[in-house]
Amino acid sequence: MKRAVFVTGTDTGIGKTHASAHLAFALSQAGFNSGYFKAVQTGDDDDCETVRTLLGTAASCRIERPAHSLKLPAAPHRAAKAEGKRLDFESVQKHWNHLSDEPAWIVEGAGGLLVPMNEQENLADWVARWKLPVILVSSTRLGTINHTLLSLEACRNRGIPVLGILLNGPEDPGLEEVLEEFGGGVEILGRLPWEGGTARLNQDFRLPERIKRHFTETAPALSISELDQRHVWHPFTQHGLEATPLPVQRAQGPWLELEDGRRVFDGISSWWVNIHGHGRQEIAQAVAAQARTLEHVIFAGFTHAPAARLAKTLVDAAKVRGTNLGRAFFSDNGSTAVEIALKLALQYQGNIGRTSKRKLLALRNSYHGDTWGSMSVSEPEGFHIRFKDLLVPVDFIDPDDFAAARALLTSDSPYAAVIFEPLLQGAGSMRLYSADFLKELSLLAKNSGTLLIADEVMTGFHRTGPLFAFEHAGVAPDLVCLSKGLTGGFLPLSVTLATDEIFQAFESRDLSQAFLHGHSYTGNPTACAAALASWELLQKPETQKRIREITALTAERIAQIREKGLGKNPRSLGTLGAVEHPGGAAYGSDLSRKLYAAALERGVLIRPLGSTLYLLPPYCSSDQELHQAWDVLESLLQSS
Ligand code: PMP
Repeated sequence: MKRAVFVTGTDTGIGKTHASAHLAFALSQAGFNSGYFKAVQTGDDDDCETVRTLLGTAASCRIERPAHSLKLPAAPHRAAKAEGKRLDFESVQKHWNHLSDEPAWIVEGAGGLLVPMNEQENLADWVARWKLPVILVSSTRLGTINHTLLSLEACRNRGIPVLGILLNGPEDPGLEEVLEEFGGGVEILGRLPWEGGTARLNQDFRLPERIKRHFTETAPALSISELDQRHVWHPFTQHGLEATPLPVQRAQGPWLELEDGRRVFDGISSWWVNIHGHGRQEIAQAVAAQARTLEHVIFAGFTHAPAARLAKTLVDAAKVRGTNLGRAFFSDNGSTAVEIALKLALQYQGNIGRTSKRKLLALRNSYHGDTWGSMSVSEPEGFHIRFKDLLVPVDFIDPDDFAAARALLTSDSPYAAVIFEPLLQGAGSMRLYSADFLKELSLLAKNSGTLLIADEVMTGFHRTGPLFAFEHAGVAPDLVCLSKGLTGGFLPLSVTLATDEIFQAFESRDLSQAFLHGHSYTGNPTACAAALASWELLQKPETQKRIREITALTAERIAQIREKGLGKNPRSLGTLGAVEHPGGAAYGSDLSRKLYAAALERGVLIRPLGSTLYLLPPYCSSDQELHQAWDVLESLLQSS
């Protein structure tokens, strides 16, 4: 593994190359073999030559030619564009990977940190991907404080470690004091008296202790995979059977980038949460801004703008869709959103004196989560079978079994609530049932005083077309559970929406009527800010258009699979497309693991639910990416 520092500056012409040459000199004085690599060179100046000239015979340094040399003396993106080229980090990394591991490398950037490298990324983005610590070159001239603090902030925002600041220019102890005081603990590594103009090597410059430590510290003894294998317990994983988890380095749009350089299309939006894809700057910025303002506060006795605004946003959206959902109760995940809905329903019936309504009704083949109540209302022979004897008693009916619904939901039925995933049973193998059944269930429930709980944890936020899947049936649930897509995959958050009537049944002067439930992170402001930013993205006409286009493409590919006679029961609803592999695998069976591995091999992440292969992609996926993913699924259907 290479040992390196990244030298960047607060501005162009601030003396990065001058500082780099001095670092190379000091490294050699301290007994290191040094190397100098300028990743991207623009303009006629040749920084490699400058370093070579400055060092002269005073020190030897391995000087590597730039990965890209561009003629125009301008920001790299502009200079590349002028030559009809596009700079990409991958090509620089490839060049870098071919360099020897031996020297202590000084990598010099081009311009300052926010200089664009291509239409999507700036230099700071590249440094973050490179994972090199930064030495920030600054000067003692006027304007330094502002430029230095801005550059430090750019590093901090991207998690780039800063080894310290090197100053060029005349001595100014007052300035150094201010930079250390306001620089968030940054260290002034040293000063070179150069003020511009002809430079010469200052042979008194010694290697700052902090940099020496960086180059002598040994790399961590264990890789991420090794640490993981020793200490982590993964969800829904049989560690005795499954392959080692793959370390992911970063993710952008629908693509996961693995540590070994492979790119994987996230065909299931990382368990259905990343509706906009990964790395969305709009959400990242909202999270960063909120985290710096108010990261968290106890939500009993206090409130704040992100939670209040998010509650209004969701309630307004639900009300224009024919519901009377006027209140939002926050928690952290889909299971707790369901748990809260179940508890609210049971207590509501008690609060209004219907004490005989103490049971719950649910649909077979459903999945509502892994906490006790949510396990109880999920398919009893499914994931939670090992706890079956200990769960809350619940009655089940099959979806589309109108007769059973009519028989159970009578005027004197004991059910406080009936819970369902509207139209699409997600983890229960992406099974669909009819809107007519949901309509009938709703009517029967309303007539028997049973509350309707729509678990929209998976189906919410346009997954099935409309914002909420219950809209397909034109029903008005009393409680709605939301999570997954709520924050666009940035932070854990969930909401249980309740009608005004339910809220009013808890409001009194009697504490025992209150809903005495809450979590440490209830209403977390940072998560709510992410949800608001994700909502903004969702409202954009281009997002809405893309959802319609993905819906059409999915329906088209499913129709083709049907025409070709591939697999069984090809089906789609909104952005979901699913089909059974003819092998008929059970959940977690060898075949299902084989299908998972085969798709991954071809660069697509899917998690077959037994023999069910499906895609539920991020809304930013392009037609081409989706067609490629469907091609992979089709090839799996033809394999045995
Ligand atoms: N309800 C439904 C419909 C779900 O699909 C899930 C998760 N797959 C949950 C609840 C539970 O959500 P979480 O995993 O966030 O607890």
